[in-house]
Amino acid sequence: MINFLDLQKINNQYQKELKEACARVIDSGWYIMGNELESFEREFAEYCGVKHAIGVANGLDALILVIRAWKEVGKLKAGDEVIVPANTYIASVLAITENDLVPVFVEPNPVTYNLCPTNVRAAITAKTKAILPVHLYGLISPMPELIDIAKEHNLLMLEDSAQAHGANIDGKKVGNWGDAAGFSFYPGKNLGALGDAGAITTNDDELAQTVKALRNYGSHKKYENLYQGINSRLDEIQAAMLRVKLKFLGQETARRREIANCYRSEITNPLIQLPEWNNDENHVFHLFVIRTENRDELQKYLTDNSIQTVIHYPIPPHKQPAYARWNQKTFPITEKIHQQVLSLPIDPTMTDDCINTVIRIINGYE
Ligand SMILES: *Cc1c(COP(=O)(O)O)cnc(C)c1O
Repeated sequence: MINFLDLQKINNQYQKELKEACARVIDSGWYIMGNELESFEREFAEYCGVKHAIGVANGLDALILVIRAWKEVGKLKAGDEVIVPANTYIASVLAITENDLVPVFVEPNPVTYNLCPTNVRAAITAKTKAILPVHLYGLISPMPELIDIAKEHNLLMLEDSAQAHGANIDGKKVGNWGDAAGFSFYPGKNLGALGDAGAITTNDDELAQTVKALRNYGSHKKYENLYQGINSRLDEIQAAMLRVKLKFLGQETARRREIANCYRSEITNPLIQLPEWNNDENHVFHLFVIRTENRDELQKYLTDNSIQTVIHYPIPPHKQPAYARWNQKTFPITEKIHQQVLSLPIDPTMTDDCINTVIRIINGYE
């Protein structure tokens, strides 16, 4: 079986350093909000090229807490509209509804799967207060165009960067374009902890201070609570794991791009639509997503040939039972994407042999 993603193999590469880091935390006797978190926050901020990184418990909390902080400082209020791609993972939408704001779904660009600036413009109303672009599958959204729109209409910009650590346009990375960004370090993400973890990045001092309080019971100072906060801290062990993994993110991303390059140049089956890419650093290939007419049939064929694939995602947020109030809406581009996409194995530890097997089997599909 060629696995979709072999986390054991990925983390085994760094076994010695991970175990040493873990032992360092155990021996320190300090497990929450200590040196490891502070160091990781500094190192991740530097990696993204931003002033602040704030560790939180997971990627969903990162997105929720940015919007929550904007409510606390009076920049947003319940009922405000947030523009979000219709074809995203549900977390992007939950961050909006959890704060009692209103998601306005827009159809993506059918080739890049990311927000389409023309559709964003068309969706703006007097109630629109923010744009939430999702750098889906690892490809950065068209940020220069989206920033222009945000400036014109005085909108906040929150980047969902959970899938795109390090993706950049001319060296300017995700997390450094909007007013703030949310990252996930879920184990399967490009930068993955050995458990749940997330972070917020921003260049805004006030936002950083507010989020730091909100993640820790709304408290800047022990036992003084400025806000009704939550407990969403990134613990010392996960911060230590992430410091080790961050050092190798560059080389893992390079390997992902190498695999994507092989797939893109050698998969020649006309039944398969490959992801667009100009060989630039704009894509970090969290996922290698192909499209085909009879997706379920292709997936079965690949499974029968011992190749594991995953669908990202089978059901768009507006069709989920959790959002029954929007089930009647239709977004044809989005719905078609969800019917046709299939993610191929893309694992930095994949051997050239495995890559070639995937290519050969896919080219043999008819
Ligand atoms: C993974 C993911 C999240 C949420 O991250 P968690 O750490 O699992 O909470 C948010 N948005 C997108 C696009 C994701 O892929």
